[in-house]
Amino acid sequence: MLPWIVVPLVLAVLYVWGQKRRKKHQRKQHFLGKEGHAPETARVVSSLKETQPYVDTTRCFCGGKIVKRSQAALVDQPAITVIGCECLHCDEKIRLYFRVEYMH
Ligand SMILES: [Zn+2]
Repeated sequence: MLPWIVVPLVLAVLYVWGQKRRKKHQRKQHFLGKEGHAPETARVVSSLKETQPYVDTTRCFCGGKIVKRSQAALVDQPAITVIGCECLHCDEKIRLYFRVEYMH
């Protein structure tokens, strides 16, 4: 049988853990609502070269620096380029979406 003190301790740990997870989730949701984080809000650029400074200045929702890992066109929307990034701090995978519109 468990000593009675263990039960409130476990509950307290679970509560704190739950709060942390919720905060992280909220930050992530807020972050994902920003421009360039979904195909619908793709950032318009005139060439793919312009995407690099944006990757350099974008931070992970944890505040860490992100680095570019991959680049591809969306299968169903070839005009949209998705750049796969990774956070150096928490390893979160972040996708940034760009629409390249060539200026004439
Ligand atoms: Zn991160």
